[in-house]
Amino acid sequence: MTTTTRTYRTCPLCEATCGIAIDLGGDDGRQVLGVRGDDADPFSRGYLCPKAYGLKALHEDPDRLRAPLVRGADGELHPASWDDAFGVAIERLREIKAEHGADAIAVYLGNPSAHSLDAMVYGQVFLRALGSKQRYSASSADQLPKMVSAALMFGGGLTIPVPDLDRTQHLLMLGANPLASNGSLMTAPDVRGRLDAIRARGGKIIVVDPRRTETAARADEHVAIRPGGDAAFLLAIAHVLFEDGLVRLGACEGRVRGLDEVRAVAARFAPERVAARTGVAAATIRRLAREHAAAPSAACYGRIGTTCQEFGTLASWAVDVVNVLTGNLDRAGGAMFTTPAVMTGRHRKRSDARFGRYRSRVKGLPEMFGELPVATLADEIGGQDSGRVRALVTIAGNPLLSAPGAERLAGAVTALEFRVAVDPYVNATTRLADVILPPPSPLERAHYDVALYQLAVRNVARFSAPTFAPAPGQPAEWEILLTLSKGMMGMAAASLAMADDLVVRELVSRELAELAESGAPAPVDATAALAALGGRRGPGRVVDALLRLGPYGDGFGARPGGLTLDVLESSHPHGVDLGPLEPRLPGVLRTGDGLVDLAPALVLDDVPRLEAALDVAPPELVLIGRRDLRSNNSWMHNLTPLIKGPARCTLRVHPDDAARLGLSDGGGARVASRAGEVVAAVEISDELRPGVVSLPHGFGHDLPGVRMGVARAHAGVNVNVVSDDEFLDAPSGNAAFNGVPVTVVPAPAPTAAA
Ligand code: SF4
Repeated sequence: MTTTTRTYRTCPLCEATCGIAIDLGGDDGRQVLGVRGDDADPFSRGYLCPKAYGLKALHEDPDRLRAPLVRGADGELHPASWDDAFGVAIERLREIKAEHGADAIAVYLGNPSAHSLDAMVYGQVFLRALGSKQRYSASSADQLPKMVSAALMFGGGLTIPVPDLDRTQHLLMLGANPLASNGSLMTAPDVRGRLDAIRARGGKIIVVDPRRTETAARADEHVAIRPGGDAAFLLAIAHVLFEDGLVRLGACEGRVRGLDEVRAVAARFAPERVAARTGVAAATIRRLAREHAAAPSAACYGRIGTTCQEFGTLASWAVDVVNVLTGNLDRAGGAMFTTPAVMTGRHRKRSDARFGRYRSRVKGLPEMFGELPVATLADEIGGQDSGRVRALVTIAGNPLLSAPGAERLAGAVTALEFRVAVDPYVNATTRLADVILPPPSPLERAHYDVALYQLAVRNVARFSAPTFAPAPGQPAEWEILLTLSKGMMGMAAASLAMADDLVVRELVSRELAELAESGAPAPVDATAALAALGGRRGPGRVVDALLRLGPYGDGFGARPGGLTLDVLESSHPHGVDLGPLEPRLPGVLRTGDGLVDLAPALVLDDVPRLEAALDVAPPELVLIGRRDLRSNNSWMHNLTPLIKGPARCTLRVHPDDAARLGLSDGGGARVASRAGEVVAAVEISDELRPGVVSLPHGFGHDLPGVRMGVARAHAGVNVNVVSDDEFLDAPSGNAAFNGVPVTVVPAPAPTAAA
């Protein structure tokens, strides 16, 4: 007879951070018998989405690597010991660095890094050990424009206001589909319930999106804007606010600079002038502006449709301009800042908005937050000059499916001299690797959402211990990254424990120095802090240190009764609710003068480009992306519970466009852009605005060498073959996946349309 035990942890599969209860059993107690929502979780209150069931499938997936792979003399990937795999990776990377410099090695951190405590903390350690300026991440194919605008306006890249969902009476959402994403740049478990509650208390939800998304279909109003029209639309809203005398700064009164510049910019975007480019009638814009201003509380929120487009930084900035102008920034029910329990740099006074400290070698694109845009990675690899990138390290990333200009990037990665991947799968990118170092399954890791709690709609803290110990011999992800780091620093012989002590000492010293710089007395010195942190190792110790130095922490004894990791684990196994969002102005600002900068030069310099676009006829047909509730990352397509059902990788086309183009439902279509072309199965749907077609991302699993059997059977096509690596948001260099000009013609239907 087997016994069943129940364990609790946070689901790491998306930004919602739901609490889940996992039933374990089997002869060895290591089988996952069931996954359900944790009713006692104070934030998610028992909610979970279908993706959570994928955790069991992921843990048990036979395609998930349990041992490293190293490319042999025969050109194939073969299982290897950890010692051999580390040895090959470190030796070759060190050779390349010694011969060509650190910048000959590029690093790409994928989106799952943000959901892995190990990768969040020790990925940065590896980057510092490597010392390369050739750093890339999924940020520049996602939310980078919002980070740029937030850093410029408020001083911090993650100082991003989130809609106070639980109290707002009016929510204006642009390019966001939280019913599919479960919330993004807005950590909000059971977002459907939270949105329904807005309407139940008499509030209103408006969704501005080229597609009648799942969220739009459930909203009070759907405004079918043209892709890329968001910045002009929001500036027209601001125009009406100024014109009608509706500007009320509220909590921002006396705390902003640049209001006159914003007024002058908005004056150039009358609703009547932007109507054609945005596809939204001037009368609608005027009504929406007045309704927003009149609401007892209101929040404006933009997501992927506003960031991954050609005016991403302008649109991201304009979202918060509307929040400020209507008096809704930093007030209950408006757009507010969290007070996270754990946050690096919490005491820092210096602004993050220091961009362009160096530029990419080929196109001269500016560095943003120490990274270059992934859209230019292929450029940096290409050519024969001595400064080119010769090696690539990917950490939890699959850029050949997630970055624009995929075919060109595939050619570039193939041509590299050496590739290392820290990844659990042989996917479209890692199939080209020379060494693959697989981390353990998410159930074998500790978890704390360092990044996502900074964007939560309520202040919470929750720590998850590993559900299972890793299999014998399997290093933790942080140990993999720290071993690589030691190797790159010439400290291969040093013990992991010693290297980890150095990491934590450096982090704690930095935090204490920033605390002292902020004027607050540091409660302890680094040596005493290290001693107080006890015997933990790895990211748990880092979380403990930051918790204790955080706003709810015990201050290493200075605030008895405050949070420590021991307290969090022993007293709050389901997490602790730290209350609703609180007003944080002006303390949250790191802009130098303590004011919100409403008119950053980097943003305003892009306004002429937007104005010029108003006078150009829009392309006849443009491509946008699409998200599904059961997908987040491409590896999720290898999990049967998440991929089964009707084929999802279809080209959705409005019936009018289908008739005009001669397309039939279930037939094929060739979608072509400047960058490339794919043939996809057609799905005719009136959810799209005419002139807009849509393909989901993360597909294209049938490349030679991919070892993901389930995903291969649902291969689909890679939308990023069509996405253009030269179609970017100008200020940030972020990929513009939405609004790509395309042509579409009938083609034979793909044989396995999945
Ligand atoms: S909404 Fe996100 S965090 Fe919650 S169960 Fe689903 S995948 Fe996990």
